[in-house]
Amino acid sequence: MNRTTASKERVCPACGEGRLEARESTQQVEHAGVEGTVPLHYAVCDMCGSEVAEADEARANKRAMIAFRKHAEGLLTGREMREARRALHLTQSQAAQLFGGGKVAFSRYENDDIAQSEAMDSLVRVCLARPETLSWLASHKGVSLPADTSVRSHAGSLAGDRISAIKSALQRQIASGQAEKAPRDPVRGHASVVDIQRWRKSAA
Ligand SMILES: [Zn+2]
Repeated sequence: MNRTTASKERVCPACGEGRLEARESTQQVEHAGVEGTVPLHYAVCDMCGSEVAEADEARANKRAMIAFRKHAEGLLTGREMREARRALHLTQSQAAQLFGGGKVAFSRYENDDIAQSEAMDSLVRVCLARPETLSWLASHKGVSLPADTSVRSHAGSLAGDRISAIKSALQRQIASGQAEKAPRDPVRGHASVVDIQRWRKSAA
């Protein structure tokens, strides 16, 4: 055995003797007239050469495909949906209470287990673009949001930005370490730092 990784060894389900080695390649895909590539996760047996995708690999492949379909259909991908929800300062449970979809809906959207409806997608975008809509919805549904008015002004400052721009700005801040070093604005600093720490944790 020349494997140095600590990952658990997997026995080949085809021959029952060889060991599976994880591989990743890419797959050309097409959906709704849009072409692209998605990562393809699988494993190869070091004895019989069988190529298999076990449960974790099959799930990762399915999620990559669903993310691509969302992109092709003009819907927010799971990652974009997570960023949008965080920009609105909502937990997954608060988002479900406000927007519907059921208790675990946002976890499933954000992991690309399922695609949100076009209506759900639009509702999230409207709240990003018009933060007062979120306030109205919260009072309509009786959901209490953080009382801090900076939440709304922060969301308002995001209104004109595309979500991809929010994402790349966050990534730049994290790469340069500015997020932590930036002087804390007495009104908005706290919320921003907390958001970025949460984002980093989930990205790790
Ligand atoms: Zn085998």
